[in-house]
Amino acid sequence: MTVITPETPSGLTGLVGLSRDELKDSVAAAGEPAFRAKQLWHWLYCRGETDFAEMTTLSKDYRARLAAAHTVDRPEVVRDQLSTDGTRKWLFRFDDGQEAETVFIPESDRGTLCISSQVGCTLTCRFCHTGTQKLVRNLTPGEIVGQVLSARDHLGDWPSAKPDRKITNLVFMGMGEPLYNYENVRTSIGIITDNEGIAISRRKITLSTAGVVPMIERCGEETGVNLAVSLHAVTDELRDDIVPVNKKYPISDLLEACRAYPGVNNARRITFEYVMLKGVNDSQADAKELIRVLKGIPAKVNLIPFNPWPGAPYLCSAPDVVDAFATTVNAGGLIGTVRTPRGQDILAACGQLKSESQRLGIRERRLQEAAARAAT
Ligand code: SAH
Repeated sequence: MTVITPETPSGLTGLVGLSRDELKDSVAAAGEPAFRAKQLWHWLYCRGETDFAEMTTLSKDYRARLAAAHTVDRPEVVRDQLSTDGTRKWLFRFDDGQEAETVFIPESDRGTLCISSQVGCTLTCRFCHTGTQKLVRNLTPGEIVGQVLSARDHLGDWPSAKPDRKITNLVFMGMGEPLYNYENVRTSIGIITDNEGIAISRRKITLSTAGVVPMIERCGEETGVNLAVSLHAVTDELRDDIVPVNKKYPISDLLEACRAYPGVNNARRITFEYVMLKGVNDSQADAKELIRVLKGIPAKVNLIPFNPWPGAPYLCSAPDVVDAFATTVNAGGLIGTVRTPRGQDILAACGQLKSESQRLGIRERRLQEAAARAAT
């Protein structure tokens, strides 16, 4: 499948997504003293300021020059939906017209932002809606960080140091495979965790992978974030079918990489995600095999009731089957939890994210837009 890189929008260049070093370079290139980079960083990521004119610690002249050359734009919000359970989903459109979704999930003790790392996904996991989307490209660091900034704008979550901020945790569990866009994801994690900016700790960030084995160790070493692995099956035969990347990186290799994940211990476990598919992977024998294969790995198991989408080839396991699976997993000494589906009324639950342009088909959408223009 072709991975398409974004078209560069002509004219102004975005500052969001530059690493600290890149921002320093930009400041130096403008002939400004080095401390301006720190000030600018503060405005961008601590205050969430979008208007250069308001960045009052910078000289008026520099503010004007910044505005003439740069933007601090966020992606355009195409849709903003609020679920009855408080979950909120945004559909963002980037400069080249591509779209991705971001979900905010409020809970009593935390607020988790689920962000996308790609437009679409190349993995084609059989139960995942995003995997049916054809057009795929990596998101840039600016587009990844832009999702966080825009969510904060909408939630009134500035400044960063605010004690009661709504977004406390971040998961790379939206659209895309983060380890297939590793460099950009790493840069965005560097920005998001920076203490003088967005300041979300590495411990509160979880990256979920379908098992891109060669990137796992490097990811742990360089980012220090928590790891979640989409296991979903305990035999290679079944996993080859439902998570096709398994043909390249089979279960034993994946689990070996998990055992070696830097920083993993009993206090900091790897999450194994396991989607409950009726009659496919939900038997008691599967549960017992799961306990066996995870032996010796500091693990917790997150059972995800399958979230259906139009045309999906699976059904979700019955609630008593999910409970029995969880009971067996827990009795086997693993920590097993069942994920409560959130935002189902707005198709925001796990694996349901898919951009509107793909749902409608780009051609249909263009026709709709043309019709809307003609009507006004
Ligand atoms: N590519 C990464 C992250 C994206 S998906 C990965 O595979 O881990 C986040 C999680 O949702 C994964 O565990 C994925 O397998 C799961 N998922 C996908 N579709 C789902 C569905 N329809 N119902 C429940 N979980 C789903």
